[in-house]
Amino acid sequence: MPELIPVLEPNEISNLVAQVALKISSDYQDKELILIAILKGAFIFLSDLVRCLSIPVKVDFVGASSYGNSTSSSGTIHLTKKVEIDLTHKDVLVVEDIVDTGLTLSYIVDYLKTYNPNTIKVCTLIDKRARRCKAIKIDYTCHMVSKGFLVGYGLDYNDKYRELPGVYRLKF
Ligand code: 5GP
Repeated sequence: MPELIPVLEPNEISNLVAQVALKISSDYQDKELILIAILKGAFIFLSDLVRCLSIPVKVDFVGASSYGNSTSSSGTIHLTKKVEIDLTHKDVLVVEDIVDTGLTLSYIVDYLKTYNPNTIKVCTLIDKRARRCKAIKIDYTCHMVSKGFLVGYGLDYNDKYRELPGVYRLKF
């Protein structure tokens, strides 16, 4: 069994999410914001984030898969669920759990741009920098780490650990 090394306690996550929500609420006042969360990992972050916002928003999901059963990206992204809300001329914020190489986010942003949104920005719970190979602008970041494979708070390893209320680094 891999060891779980604590990275973010639940109360730290709550504070980080509240801070980023404050900024988003202020930046998108009087706008029609649509949040697009990337499945599956961002589902808990999204649900906490929307409840901290002080502006009305619409929510949709896209499904993307690149990892399979390993801890490093295959580099090939598969779209497993398309967006269903009309994004034309709307302000879109992509909500991601963790950005690693940047390939997934870049693929999703390019895909969402095909719907001609007015603006498209990105919010991530965790920005993991060490393996970034695709330059991508992240507009809102809750927490930065340099490396390691993280689980909990929606993040999985072989579909396990998503339910943990904190974020942990897996030590194999
Ligand atoms: P990227 O395409 O940026 O390399 O990877 C993005 C996706 O890979 C994330 O949405 C997430 O699903 C997965 N991923 C990247 N790093 C980690 C990690 O440390 N832990 C987990 N559980 N998933 C990760």
